[in-house]
Amino acid sequence: MIVAKVIVDIASSLVDKVFDYLLPSEDFSVGQRVLVPFGKISKEGYIIEITDHSDLDENKLKSVISALEPFSVINKDQLELARFMKQEFNTGMCDALRLFLPAEMRSGKVKELVKINCYIQDETKAKEYLANTRKNATAIFGLITLLLEKGELSRSELGKKFNPSSLKKLIDDGIIQTREVEVRRKPYNGAVAEKTEIILTKTQQSVVNRITSEKNIYLLHGVTGSGKTEVYMNAMKKVLESGKTGIMLVPEISLTPQVLMNFRAKFGENVALLHSGLSVGERFDEWKRILMGEAQIVVGARSAIFAPLKNIGLIVIDEEHDGSYTSDSNPRYNTIEVAKKRAELSQASLVLGSATPSLVSYHHAMIGNYQLLEMKERINKKELPPLKIIDMGNEVRNGNTGIFSATLKDALIRTINEKNQAMLFINRRGFSSFLMCKKCGFVAKCDSCDVSLVYHKFENALKCHYCGNRYRVLTECPACGNTNLSTGAVGTERVVQELKELIPNVSVSRMDNDTTKTKDSHLKILSDFRSGKTQVLVGTQMIAKGHDFPSVTLVGIIDADVSLYQSSYTASEQTFQLITQVAGRAGRADKPGEIYLQTYVPRHYTYKLASFYDYPAFYKKEINLRKTTNYPPFTKIIRILFTSEVENLAKDTAKVYYEKVKEIQDKNKNDFVYLGVMKSPIGKIQNKFRIQILIRINLEGAENITRKLYEFASDVKRNDVSIFVEIDPQNLS
Ligand code: ADP
Ligand code: ZN
Repeated sequence: MIVAKVIVDIASSLVDKVFDYLLPSEDFSVGQRVLVPFGKISKEGYIIEITDHSDLDENKLKSVISALEPFSVINKDQLELARFMKQEFNTGMCDALRLFLPAEMRSGKVKELVKINCYIQDETKAKEYLANTRKNATAIFGLITLLLEKGELSRSELGKKFNPSSLKKLIDDGIIQTREVEVRRKPYNGAVAEKTEIILTKTQQSVVNRITSEKNIYLLHGVTGSGKTEVYMNAMKKVLESGKTGIMLVPEISLTPQVLMNFRAKFGENVALLHSGLSVGERFDEWKRILMGEAQIVVGARSAIFAPLKNIGLIVIDEEHDGSYTSDSNPRYNTIEVAKKRAELSQASLVLGSATPSLVSYHHAMIGNYQLLEMKERINKKELPPLKIIDMGNEVRNGNTGIFSATLKDALIRTINEKNQAMLFINRRGFSSFLMCKKCGFVAKCDSCDVSLVYHKFENALKCHYCGNRYRVLTECPACGNTNLSTGAVGTERVVQELKELIPNVSVSRMDNDTTKTKDSHLKILSDFRSGKTQVLVGTQMIAKGHDFPSVTLVGIIDADVSLYQSSYTASEQTFQLITQVAGRAGRADKPGEIYLQTYVPRHYTYKLASFYDYPAFYKKEINLRKTTNYPPFTKIIRILFTSEVENLAKDTAKVYYEKVKEIQDKNKNDFVYLGVMKSPIGKIQNKFRIQILIRINLEGAENITRKLYEFASDVKRNDVSIFVEIDPQNLS
């Protein structure tokens, strides 16, 4: 007998096991999708193994019904990767396998787009036909003549030019033949940069040589504007020439279309794009092009690491420190760890690139796990622009209570007058962070979430940034009736408003989650800024990422402390990264740049070191702090999050779980640094209550303990409580 081990495609995490089915013939392969009987219905599933035995009786086994596609859709490396994810992140096999396919392909919601083409097979016959046709039958003459001349044309086009019934008659009479051809939908069709021949600098060339000469994990630390993209592309080119394929990951394609444009200019149709912003059809077609070997380079956001490539030679993760590489909703995974495994499976090199590497990655480089490559200078030896720290406490003492310091005001006016461009960065959208009664202290809060509402002046609403709920703006306090309400910290909308008050005719656009909801809005805002149509761009961290705007000379960081005072052990690290990235947008071309950072703690080491662009010094300071305070990478932090619509269910499940952890803690005292159970900092999101257990453990025992924690999660799981085990989470809200 031939037995297929099948993962049945069921959403529930409660059914994560392998089922045995008989195969009716030998025409099946591992990685193929099949239809199988499941209970009283049939379900889709994935064959993950084919063997000649089963633990069950042959007569008890049901048979696979049919194949969904005539070929495998998941290759061997991908299967191995799914197994790795199960072990490493506790991902269910089904959830892991789903990552490899466009979602809508399951249950057949998306297919190839086909069109019908017309052609003439027998020229002589067609000409004879014409000879016997009345001369005034212009459609028939036109159709045959055109097809004889052009060879093949689409039926719908012909139907528009000529009388459709004549076309149908010719097809029925066998004069014109038809055939189906697949049409590929192409995302961001216009996004191709002009092809420019660039000669690599010595530094770039030697980095390319290193990357392509030896399989390894490389950390490329290159300052902003040092030409990392050019390095990636040239390394890819070599990889392609050796007959292999490559993956290029960027944090968010819609924010940095430039990378895609440059890759398309260099590699044309060999580039496929994969990310969640594509339409269903586009995503399917790009995926199919990769599967069929029509595209050898995949550019995309984190999910592109799951692309159906074979024979990978190089994986690049650009801006490797970026938070978007951690998936913090189901399935949760760390893209760098997945990429390491994928690189290992296909004997590929992995390049992690950044101007501000994550502390963890740099630590790996320092202890020899990664090879450190450095590009310390900007292209053409341009200086990094001077960064000046401004003490906002001083401004207040001098009577300036506005959001711009006197220095930044002057710089803005000067920049606008000189027809240069400016970027103003504030990591908070909306007008102000909250609305509060000055008399009784009432703060407007969301009904579904345990957070205060953000005031959005433009939409004239209060909005919850966790669930999206909208509420009417308050004109008086619902608790005491007082009409004197105060607004909280500044957001993007308020920056735009005050800028317009400062410089009335300035053309400014705002880029944040509110202004970029529609599909191409990012591109529009960015291209307006690039063309100079807008002179100032105000935005959240969206404007910080890898953009290359040559005319930007001024960058203002309105309130740097937003990032520094978030409650996470990585707050300083994230702030340093953010400042460096934002600052890196200024002075990239011929004109010199200037950067102003406004803060109430001007002497903080993070700001000081960021102002010198001294990453190694920052690393040294911060890594010592982590060591003395027992934080990653010297320990592992694990959060087990329990969420439920019923508060007590979450609490009780957490209690049961806690008892289990307590037991292993008692047995392995040396491995535990800390264990605590508590309400999550945000106790409720979207009407789900949140309870968490926080654990900090030593590295030595980490692997064992993590495995146990995953097992416990399976032991106590139930339908009405979700349990998530997160390793080293950056966000603990
Ligand atoms: P990074 O990603 O390191 O911040 P980019 O890749 O955006 O830097 O490069 C900065 C600018 O320098 C780009 O405009 C790029 O086209 C240009 N550039 C890169 N390499 C070279 C080179 N060898 N010669 C001339 N210009 C280059
Ligand atoms: Zn809410």
